[in-house]
Amino acid sequence: MPLTIHDTLHREKRVFEPRDPNRVTLYVCGPTVYDFAHIGNARPPVVFDVLVRLLRRTYGADKVIYARNVTDVDDKINAKAFKEGAPIGKITARYEAAYLEDMGRLNVSPPDLAPHVTDHMDAIVAQIAAIIEHGCAYAAEGHVLFDVSSYEAYGRLSGRNLDDMIAGARVEVAPYKKNPHDFVLWKPARENEPSWPSPWGDGRPGWHIECSAMIEETLGLPIDIHGGGIDLVFPHHENEIAQGVCAHGHAHGDQPHAEYSRYWMHNGFLTMDAEKMSKSIGNVLLLHDLVQSIPGEVVRWGLLSAHYRQPLDWNQSLLDQSRKALDRLYGALHRSAAVEPSTDQPPAEFLKAIEDDLNTPGAMAVLFALSSEIERGMTAGDLDAVARARGELIASAAILGVLQAAPAEWLEGEVSDDLRTEVEALLEQRATARAAKDWPEADRIRDRLNALKVVVMDGPQGATWRVKG
Ligand code: AMP
Ligand code: ZN
Repeated sequence: MPLTIHDTLHREKRVFEPRDPNRVTLYVCGPTVYDFAHIGNARPPVVFDVLVRLLRRTYGADKVIYARNVTDVDDKINAKAFKEGAPIGKITARYEAAYLEDMGRLNVSPPDLAPHVTDHMDAIVAQIAAIIEHGCAYAAEGHVLFDVSSYEAYGRLSGRNLDDMIAGARVEVAPYKKNPHDFVLWKPARENEPSWPSPWGDGRPGWHIECSAMIEETLGLPIDIHGGGIDLVFPHHENEIAQGVCAHGHAHGDQPHAEYSRYWMHNGFLTMDAEKMSKSIGNVLLLHDLVQSIPGEVVRWGLLSAHYRQPLDWNQSLLDQSRKALDRLYGALHRSAAVEPSTDQPPAEFLKAIEDDLNTPGAMAVLFALSSEIERGMTAGDLDAVARARGELIASAAILGVLQAAPAEWLEGEVSDDLRTEVEALLEQRATARAAKDWPEADRIRDRLNALKVVVMDGPQGATWRVKG
Protein backbone atom coordinates (compact mmCIF):
# COMPACT_ATOMS: atom_id res chain seq x y z
CA MET A 1 0.00 0.00 0.00
CA PRO A 2 1.39 3.41 -0.84
CA LEU A 3 1.13 6.17 1.73
CA THR A 4 -1.75 8.54 1.07
CA ILE A 5 -2.07 11.85 2.82
CA HIS A 6 -4.82 14.41 2.92
CA ASP A 7 -3.40 17.49 1.25
CA THR A 8 -4.90 20.73 2.54
CA LEU A 9 -4.10 22.52 -0.74
CA HIS A 10 -5.78 19.95 -3.00
CA ARG A 11 -8.49 19.21 -0.41
CA GLU A 12 -8.24 15.47 -0.99
CA LYS A 13 -6.17 12.43 -0.19
CA ARG A 14 -3.22 12.04 -2.53
CA VAL A 15 -0.70 9.27 -2.94
CA PHE A 16 2.55 10.52 -1.47
CA GLU A 17 5.38 10.70 -3.98
CA PRO A 18 8.49 12.47 -2.78
CA ARG A 19 10.44 14.55 -5.23
CA ASP A 20 13.48 12.41 -4.52
CA PRO A 21 13.02 9.15 -2.55
CA ASN A 22 16.65 9.44 -1.45
CA ARG A 23 15.98 12.78 0.21
CA VAL A 24 12.48 13.14 1.64
CA THR A 25 11.96 16.52 3.31
CA LEU A 26 9.45 17.52 5.96
CA TYR A 27 9.03 20.79 7.84
CA VAL A 28 6.71 21.38 10.79
CA CYS A 29 6.21 24.76 12.44
CA GLY A 30 7.59 24.44 15.95
CA PRO A 31 7.12 26.32 19.20
CA THR A 32 7.48 29.99 19.98
CA VAL A 33 9.54 29.69 23.13
CA TYR A 34 8.14 32.33 25.47
CA ASP A 35 6.26 30.06 27.89
CA PHE A 36 5.47 26.40 28.60
CA ALA A 37 3.63 24.55 25.84
CA HIS A 38 0.03 23.54 26.48
CA ILE A 39 -1.40 20.13 25.72
CA GLY A 40 -2.79 21.35 22.33
CA ASN A 41 0.71 22.38 21.26
CA ALA A 42 1.80 18.77 21.80
CA ARG A 43 -0.52 17.42 19.13
CA PRO A 44 1.46 18.48 16.03
CA PRO A 45 4.86 17.20 17.23
CA VAL A 46 3.37 13.85 18.25
CA VAL A 47 1.35 13.42 15.04
CA PHE A 48 4.26 14.36 12.79
CA ASP A 49 6.58 12.14 14.82
CA VAL A 50 4.43 9.21 13.73
CA LEU A 51 4.63 10.40 10.12
CA VAL A 52 8.42 10.68 10.34
CA ARG A 53 8.70 7.19 11.86
CA LEU A 54 6.64 5.85 8.97
CA LEU A 55 8.63 7.74 6.32
CA ARG A 56 11.89 6.48 7.83
CA ARG A 57 10.63 2.93 7.67
CA THR A 58 9.54 3.36 4.05
CA TYR A 59 12.47 5.32 2.61
CA GLY A 60 15.28 4.51 5.06
CA ALA A 61 16.24 6.30 8.25
CA ASP A 62 18.98 8.35 6.60
CA LYS A 63 16.83 9.36 3.61
CA VAL A 64 14.38 11.55 5.55
CA ILE A 65 15.20 15.06 6.73
CA TYR A 66 12.82 16.45 9.28
CA ALA A 67 13.06 20.10 10.35
CA ARG A 68 11.05 21.61 13.21
CA ASN A 69 11.93 25.23 13.82
CA VAL A 70 12.17 27.21 17.03
CA THR A 71 10.75 30.73 16.94
CA ASP A 72 13.07 32.65 19.23
CA VAL A 73 12.23 36.18 18.04
CA ASP A 74 8.72 37.38 18.84
CA ASP A 75 6.70 40.11 20.58
CA LYS A 76 5.69 37.78 23.42
CA ILE A 77 9.33 36.85 24.00
CA ASN A 78 10.25 40.55 24.11
CA ALA A 79 7.44 41.23 26.56
CA LYS A 80 8.57 38.45 28.90
CA ALA A 81 12.22 39.50 28.68
CA PHE A 82 11.21 43.06 29.53
CA LYS A 83 9.14 41.90 32.50
CA GLU A 84 12.01 39.82 33.88
CA GLY A 85 14.70 42.34 32.98
CA ALA A 86 16.52 39.52 31.18
CA PRO A 87 17.95 39.16 27.67
CA ILE A 88 15.65 37.29 25.26
CA GLY A 89 18.19 34.46 25.00
CA LYS A 90 17.65 33.63 28.65
CA ILE A 91 13.88 33.34 28.19
CA THR A 92 14.07 31.32 24.97
CA ALA A 93 16.75 28.93 26.33
CA ARG A 94 14.62 28.23 29.41
CA TYR A 95 11.42 27.42 27.51
CA GLU A 96 13.14 25.56 24.72
CA ALA A 97 14.80 23.29 27.30
CA ALA A 98 11.41 22.68 28.96
CA TYR A 99 9.85 21.94 25.56
CA LEU A 100 12.53 19.41 24.67
CA GLU A 101 12.25 17.74 28.06
CA ASP A 102 8.48 17.41 27.62
CA MET A 103 8.91 16.10 24.06
CA GLY A 104 11.30 13.49 25.44
CA ARG A 105 8.65 12.32 27.90
CA LEU A 106 6.21 11.96 25.01
CA ASN A 107 8.80 9.85 23.19
CA VAL A 108 8.93 12.35 20.32
CA SER A 109 12.19 11.70 18.50
CA PRO A 110 14.27 14.85 18.00
CA PRO A 111 14.01 16.38 14.52
CA ASP A 112 17.09 16.23 12.28
CA LEU A 113 17.19 20.01 12.13
CA ALA A 114 15.93 22.60 14.61
CA PRO A 115 16.63 25.94 12.95
CA HIS A 116 16.40 29.00 15.20
CA VAL A 117 15.39 32.35 13.74
CA THR A 118 18.31 34.16 15.41
CA ASP A 119 20.73 31.89 13.52
CA HIS A 120 19.20 32.62 10.10
CA MET A 121 18.93 36.39 9.90
CA ASP A 122 21.10 36.55 6.77
CA ALA A 123 18.86 34.10 4.93
CA ILE A 124 15.76 36.01 6.06
CA VAL A 125 17.14 39.36 4.86
CA ALA A 126 18.23 37.75 1.56
CA GLN A 127 14.77 36.29 0.96
CA ILE A 128 13.07 39.62 1.66
CA ALA A 129 15.48 41.34 -0.77
CA ALA A 130 14.68 38.73 -3.44
CA ILE A 131 10.92 39.24 -2.98
CA ILE A 132 11.36 43.02 -3.39
CA GLU A 133 13.50 42.44 -6.46
CA HIS A 134 10.74 40.39 -8.06
CA GLY A 135 8.25 43.19 -7.47
CA CYS A 136 6.22 41.41 -4.77
CA ALA A 137 7.14 43.53 -1.75
CA TYR A 138 7.85 47.15 -0.96
CA ALA A 139 9.62 49.11 1.77
CA ALA A 140 7.74 51.85 3.61
CA GLU A 141 8.61 53.69 6.82
CA GLY A 142 11.17 51.17 8.02
CA HIS A 143 8.80 48.26 7.25
CA VAL A 144 8.88 45.87 4.36
CA LEU A 145 5.45 44.63 3.29
CA PHE A 146 4.43 41.82 1.01
CA ASP A 147 2.12 43.08 -1.73
CA VAL A 148 -0.66 40.48 -1.81
CA SER A 149 -2.03 41.80 -5.09
CA SER A 150 1.22 40.76 -6.80
CA TYR A 151 0.65 37.05 -6.23
CA GLU A 152 -2.16 35.59 -8.33
CA ALA A 153 -2.65 32.45 -6.27
CA TYR A 154 -2.84 34.25 -2.92
CA GLY A 155 -5.59 32.58 -0.88
CA ARG A 156 -5.49 29.24 -2.68
CA LEU A 157 -4.31 27.17 0.31
CA SER A 158 -6.98 28.51 2.66
CA GLY A 159 -9.65 28.77 -0.03
CA ARG A 160 -10.15 32.50 0.40
CA ASN A 161 -10.12 35.14 -2.24
CA LEU A 162 -8.74 38.56 -1.76
CA ASP A 163 -12.04 40.37 -2.37
CA ASP A 164 -13.81 38.39 0.37
CA MET A 165 -10.90 39.01 2.65
CA ILE A 166 -11.06 42.73 2.07
CA ALA A 167 -14.82 42.71 2.72
CA GLY A 168 -14.38 40.96 6.08
CA ALA A 169 -11.11 42.61 6.92
CA ARG A 170 -9.97 42.46 10.50
CA VAL A 171 -6.37 43.16 9.79
CA GLU A 172 -4.25 45.98 10.98
CA VAL A 173 -4.80 49.03 8.81
CA ALA A 174 -1.65 51.07 8.67
CA PRO A 175 -0.89 54.19 6.65
CA TYR A 176 2.19 52.57 5.11
CA LYS A 177 0.21 49.61 3.68
CA LYS A 178 -0.96 49.72 0.06
CA ASN A 179 -3.58 47.06 0.77
CA PRO A 180 -4.87 46.17 4.25
CA HIS A 181 -3.90 42.52 3.63
CA ASP A 182 -0.29 43.28 2.86
CA PHE A 183 1.68 41.63 5.62
CA VAL A 184 4.93 42.48 7.31
CA LEU A 185 8.21 40.89 6.23
CA TRP A 186 10.41 43.23 8.25
CA LYS A 187 9.59 45.74 10.93
CA PRO A 188 11.60 48.39 12.69
CA ALA A 189 12.61 47.62 16.26
CA ARG A 190 11.17 49.76 19.01
CA GLU A 191 13.45 51.26 21.60
CA ASN A 192 15.24 48.68 23.80
CA GLU A 193 14.07 45.79 21.66
CA PRO A 194 16.56 43.39 20.13
CA SER A 195 17.24 44.21 16.50
CA TRP A 196 19.29 43.07 13.53
CA PRO A 197 20.74 45.15 10.70
CA SER A 198 19.07 45.17 7.27
CA PRO A 199 19.03 47.36 4.15
CA TRP A 200 15.71 48.79 5.45
CA GLY A 201 17.06 49.76 8.85
CA ASP A 202 17.60 47.90 12.11
CA GLY A 203 14.66 45.73 12.95
CA ARG A 204 13.39 42.19 13.01
CA PRO A 205 11.55 39.81 10.73
CA GLY A 206 7.83 39.12 10.67
CA TRP A 207 6.76 35.65 11.74
CA HIS A 208 5.89 34.19 8.31
CA ILE A 209 9.18 35.02 6.61
CA GLU A 210 11.15 33.09 9.23
CA CYS A 211 9.73 29.78 8.13
CA SER A 212 9.98 30.33 4.37
CA ALA A 213 13.57 31.56 4.65
CA MET A 214 14.66 28.75 7.00
CA ILE A 215 12.94 26.15 4.82
CA GLU A 216 14.79 27.38 1.76
CA GLU A 217 18.11 27.55 3.56
CA THR A 218 17.96 24.30 5.51
CA LEU A 219 15.95 21.98 3.25
CA GLY A 220 15.86 23.63 -0.19
CA LEU A 221 12.75 24.19 -2.33
CA PRO A 222 10.37 22.62 -2.92
CA ILE A 223 10.03 20.51 0.20
CA ASP A 224 7.88 17.39 0.19
CA ILE A 225 5.60 17.94 3.18
CA HIS A 226 4.80 20.97 5.28
CA GLY A 227 2.83 20.45 8.47
CA GLY A 228 1.31 22.26 11.43
CA GLY A 229 -1.95 22.89 13.26
CA ILE A 230 -5.06 23.88 11.32
CA ASP A 231 -4.91 27.41 12.72
CA LEU A 232 -1.71 27.97 10.74
CA VAL A 233 -3.36 27.53 7.31
CA PHE A 234 -4.25 31.21 7.28
CA PRO A 235 -2.42 33.47 7.39
CA HIS A 236 0.85 31.77 8.32
CA HIS A 237 1.11 29.09 5.65
CA GLU A 238 -0.70 31.11 3.00
CA ASN A 239 1.91 33.80 3.50
CA GLU A 240 4.78 31.33 3.57
CA ILE A 241 3.78 30.08 0.11
CA ALA A 242 3.49 33.59 -1.28
CA GLN A 243 6.96 34.45 0.03
CA GLY A 244 8.66 31.22 -0.98
CA VAL A 245 7.24 31.38 -4.48
CA CYS A 246 7.72 35.09 -5.11
CA ALA A 247 11.33 35.09 -3.91
CA HIS A 248 11.96 33.14 -7.10
CA GLY A 249 9.80 35.23 -9.40
CA HIS A 250 7.10 32.57 -9.79
CA ALA A 251 4.19 34.84 -8.92
CA HIS A 252 2.32 33.84 -12.07
CA GLY A 253 1.62 30.53 -13.70
CA ASP A 254 -0.47 27.44 -13.22
CA GLN A 255 1.04 25.78 -10.19
CA PRO A 256 3.21 28.38 -8.48
CA HIS A 257 2.55 26.88 -5.00
CA ALA A 258 4.08 23.57 -6.13
CA GLU A 259 7.42 25.37 -6.10
CA TYR A 260 7.21 25.64 -2.33
CA SER A 261 5.78 22.48 -0.75
CA ARG A 262 4.36 19.47 -2.57
CA TYR A 263 1.96 18.41 0.22
CA TRP A 264 0.36 20.26 3.13
CA MET A 265 -0.89 18.50 6.28
CA HIS A 266 -2.75 20.10 9.17
CA ASN A 267 -3.87 18.62 12.47
CA GLY A 268 -7.24 19.42 14.02
CA PHE A 269 -7.60 21.27 17.26
CA LEU A 270 -7.63 19.92 20.77
CA THR A 271 -10.31 21.12 23.18
CA MET A 272 -10.43 20.76 26.97
CA ASP A 273 -13.62 19.17 28.31
CA ALA A 274 -15.32 20.30 25.08
CA GLU A 275 -14.18 23.90 25.45
CA LYS A 276 -11.55 25.89 23.65
CA MET A 277 -8.44 26.23 25.77
CA SER A 278 -8.01 29.82 26.72
CA LYS A 279 -6.30 31.79 29.41
CA SER A 280 -9.45 33.81 30.04
CA ILE A 281 -11.52 30.65 30.71
CA GLY A 282 -8.64 29.41 32.87
CA ASN A 283 -8.59 25.91 31.33
CA VAL A 284 -5.10 25.92 29.84
CA LEU A 285 -3.41 22.63 30.68
CA LEU A 286 0.36 22.84 30.53
CA LEU A 287 2.12 19.83 29.09
CA HIS A 288 4.96 20.34 31.54
CA ASP A 289 2.58 19.96 34.51
CA LEU A 290 0.70 17.05 33.02
CA VAL A 291 3.76 14.89 32.39
CA GLN A 292 4.86 15.29 36.02
CA SER A 293 1.87 13.30 37.21
CA ILE A 294 1.00 11.04 34.27
CA PRO A 295 3.32 8.84 32.20
CA GLY A 296 4.17 10.58 28.91
CA GLU A 297 3.13 7.44 27.08
CA VAL A 298 -0.46 7.78 28.34
CA VAL A 299 -0.49 11.37 27.06
CA ARG A 300 0.95 10.25 23.71
CA TRP A 301 -1.64 7.50 23.39
CA GLY A 302 -4.42 9.99 24.15
CA LEU A 303 -3.12 12.41 21.53
CA LEU A 304 -3.05 9.67 18.89
CA SER A 305 -6.38 8.12 19.78
CA ALA A 306 -8.34 10.32 17.38
CA HIS A 307 -7.49 10.72 13.70
CA TYR A 308 -5.15 13.71 13.45
CA ARG A 309 -7.49 15.78 11.28
CA GLN A 310 -10.42 15.36 13.68
CA PRO A 311 -10.92 17.54 16.71
CA LEU A 312 -9.80 15.84 19.92
CA ASP A 313 -11.41 16.46 23.27
CA TRP A 314 -9.05 16.15 26.22
CA ASN A 315 -10.80 14.91 29.36
CA GLN A 316 -10.36 12.49 32.25
CA SER A 317 -12.09 9.64 30.49
CA LEU A 318 -9.64 9.89 27.56
CA LEU A 319 -6.76 9.59 30.02
CA ASP A 320 -8.39 6.65 31.82
CA GLN A 321 -9.02 4.82 28.56
CA SER A 322 -5.49 5.50 27.36
CA ARG A 323 -3.99 4.07 30.52
CA LYS A 324 -6.24 1.01 30.31
CA ALA A 325 -5.29 0.46 26.69
CA LEU A 326 -1.60 0.55 27.51
CA ASP A 327 -2.07 -1.70 30.56
CA ARG A 328 -3.76 -4.27 28.37
CA LEU A 329 -1.05 -4.18 25.68
CA TYR A 330 1.82 -4.22 28.17
CA GLY A 331 -0.01 -7.00 30.00
CA ALA A 332 0.05 -9.18 26.87
CA LEU A 333 3.73 -8.38 26.30
CA HIS A 334 4.49 -9.23 29.90
CA ARG A 335 2.60 -12.48 29.86
CA SER A 336 4.50 -13.55 26.74
CA ALA A 337 7.87 -12.12 27.85
CA ALA A 338 9.63 -15.48 27.59
CA VAL A 339 8.64 -15.96 23.94
CA GLU A 340 11.18 -14.71 21.41
CA PRO A 341 9.48 -12.73 18.57
CA SER A 342 9.73 -14.46 15.20
CA THR A 343 9.36 -11.28 13.13
CA ASP A 344 10.28 -7.60 13.31
CA GLN A 345 7.71 -6.44 10.76
CA PRO A 346 4.25 -4.95 11.33
CA PRO A 347 1.38 -6.90 9.78
CA ALA A 348 -0.27 -5.73 6.54
CA GLU A 349 -3.44 -4.55 8.35
CA PHE A 350 -1.41 -2.21 10.51
CA LEU A 351 0.38 -0.69 7.52
CA LYS A 352 -2.90 -0.41 5.64
CA ALA A 353 -4.35 1.70 8.46
CA ILE A 354 -1.36 3.90 9.15
CA GLU A 355 -0.59 4.49 5.47
CA ASP A 356 -4.16 5.60 4.98
CA ASP A 357 -3.55 9.22 5.95
CA LEU A 358 -2.20 8.18 9.36
CA ASN A 359 -5.32 6.41 10.58
CA THR A 360 -4.06 6.00 14.14
CA PRO A 361 -7.37 4.75 15.63
CA GLY A 362 -7.40 1.99 12.97
CA ALA A 363 -3.76 1.21 13.70
CA MET A 364 -4.49 0.99 17.43
CA ALA A 365 -7.31 -1.48 16.75
CA VAL A 366 -4.71 -3.73 15.10
CA LEU A 367 -2.56 -3.53 18.26
CA PHE A 368 -5.51 -4.76 20.32
CA ALA A 369 -6.16 -7.59 17.89
CA LEU A 370 -2.50 -8.65 18.17
CA SER A 371 -2.61 -8.54 21.96
CA SER A 372 -5.70 -10.78 21.89
CA GLU A 373 -3.82 -13.20 19.64
CA ILE A 374 -0.98 -13.27 22.16
CA GLU A 375 -3.38 -13.96 25.04
CA ARG A 376 -5.13 -16.72 23.09
CA GLY A 377 -1.83 -18.24 22.01
CA MET A 378 -0.53 -18.25 25.59
CA THR A 379 -3.69 -19.93 26.85
CA ALA A 380 -3.65 -22.51 24.06
CA GLY A 381 0.12 -23.04 24.27
CA ASP A 382 0.50 -22.04 20.59
CA LEU A 383 3.91 -20.44 20.95
CA ASP A 384 4.43 -19.98 17.19
CA ALA A 385 1.37 -17.78 17.04
CA VAL A 386 2.56 -15.90 20.13
CA ALA A 387 6.05 -15.38 18.66
CA ARG A 388 4.60 -13.90 15.47
CA ALA A 389 1.94 -11.73 17.14
CA ARG A 390 4.44 -10.50 19.72
CA GLY A 391 6.93 -9.46 17.01
CA GLU A 392 4.20 -7.78 14.99
CA LEU A 393 2.89 -5.95 18.04
CA ILE A 394 6.32 -4.58 18.98
CA ALA A 395 7.11 -3.55 15.38
CA SER A 396 3.73 -1.83 14.92
CA ALA A 397 3.93 -0.06 18.26
CA ALA A 398 7.37 1.30 17.33
CA ILE A 399 5.78 3.24 14.44
CA LEU A 400 3.28 4.77 16.85
CA GLY A 401 6.14 5.38 19.31
CA VAL A 402 4.52 3.41 22.12
CA LEU A 403 5.18 0.19 24.13
CA GLN A 404 8.87 1.00 24.32
CA ALA A 405 9.22 0.46 28.08
CA ALA A 406 9.99 -2.88 29.73
CA PRO A 407 6.52 -4.40 30.40
CA ALA A 408 7.29 -5.25 34.02
CA GLU A 409 8.41 -1.69 34.71
CA TRP A 410 5.33 -0.26 33.08
CA LEU A 411 3.02 -2.50 35.06
CA GLU A 412 4.73 -1.58 38.30
CA GLY A 413 4.39 2.11 37.43
CA GLU A 414 5.87 5.10 39.14
CA VAL A 415 5.78 4.55 42.90
CA SER A 416 7.71 5.85 45.86
CA ASP A 417 10.84 4.04 47.01
CA ASP A 418 9.24 3.30 50.41
CA LEU A 419 6.26 1.59 48.82
CA ARG A 420 8.48 -0.34 46.44
CA THR A 421 10.64 -1.61 49.34
CA GLU A 422 7.61 -2.65 51.37
CA VAL A 423 5.87 -4.40 48.46
CA GLU A 424 8.99 -6.27 47.45
CA ALA A 425 9.52 -7.46 51.03
CA LEU A 426 5.87 -8.60 51.20
CA LEU A 427 6.20 -10.51 47.92
CA GLU A 428 9.23 -12.34 49.25
CA GLN A 429 7.41 -13.21 52.48
CA ARG A 430 4.46 -14.33 50.35
CA ALA A 431 6.67 -16.67 48.33
CA THR A 432 8.14 -18.12 51.53
CA ALA A 433 4.70 -18.53 53.12
CA ARG A 434 3.32 -20.22 50.01
CA ALA A 435 6.29 -22.56 49.78
CA ALA A 436 5.74 -23.49 53.43
CA LYS A 437 1.96 -23.82 52.81
CA ASP A 438 1.44 -21.30 55.60
CA TRP A 439 -1.97 -20.10 54.33
CA PRO A 440 -2.88 -17.79 57.27
CA GLU A 441 0.39 -15.93 56.73
CA ALA A 442 -0.20 -15.79 52.94
CA ASP A 443 -3.69 -14.34 53.63
CA ARG A 444 -2.28 -11.74 56.00
CA ILE A 445 0.18 -10.65 53.32
CA ARG A 446 -2.57 -10.51 50.69
CA ASP A 447 -4.66 -8.26 52.99
CA ARG A 448 -1.71 -5.96 53.51
CA LEU A 449 -1.12 -5.74 49.75
CA ASN A 450 -4.82 -4.97 49.25
CA ALA A 451 -4.59 -2.24 51.86
CA LEU A 452 -1.71 -0.76 49.90
CA LYS A 453 -3.91 -0.95 46.75
CA VAL A 454 -1.36 -3.19 45.11
CA VAL A 455 -2.44 -5.67 42.43
CA VAL A 456 -0.15 -8.66 42.00
CA MET A 457 0.17 -10.47 38.69
CA ASP A 458 1.84 -13.87 38.73
CA GLY A 459 3.66 -14.72 35.50
CA PRO A 460 6.25 -17.17 34.20
CA GLN A 461 9.03 -14.76 35.18
CA GLY A 462 7.73 -14.33 38.74
CA ALA A 463 5.27 -11.84 40.17
CA THR A 464 4.87 -8.25 39.02
CA TRP A 465 2.66 -5.70 40.62
CA ARG A 466 1.17 -2.29 40.20
CA VAL A 467 -0.82 0.21 42.17
CA LYS A 468 -4.54 0.22 41.33
CA GLY A 469 -6.07 3.28 39.72
P1 AMP B 1 1.90 28.26 18.75
O1 AMP B 1 2.93 28.15 19.83
O2 AMP B 1 0.61 28.88 19.15
O3 AMP B 1 2.50 28.85 17.48
O4 AMP B 1 1.50 26.77 18.36
C1 AMP B 1 2.43 25.75 18.10
C2 AMP B 1 1.73 24.64 17.34
O5 AMP B 1 0.65 24.11 18.12
C3 AMP B 1 1.11 25.08 16.03
O6 AMP B 1 1.33 24.07 15.05
C4 AMP B 1 -0.36 25.23 16.34
O7 AMP B 1 -1.14 25.03 15.21
C5 AMP B 1 -0.55 24.10 17.33
N1 AMP B 1 -1.69 24.30 18.25
C6 AMP B 1 -1.91 25.38 19.05
N2 AMP B 1 -3.05 25.21 19.77
C7 AMP B 1 -3.54 23.98 19.45
C8 AMP B 1 -4.67 23.20 19.88
N3 AMP B 1 -5.53 23.64 20.81
N4 AMP B 1 -4.86 22.00 19.31
C9 AMP B 1 -4.00 21.50 18.39
N5 AMP B 1 -2.91 22.16 17.94
C10 AMP B 1 -2.67 23.40 18.48
ZN1 ZN C 1 5.96 28.30 10.28
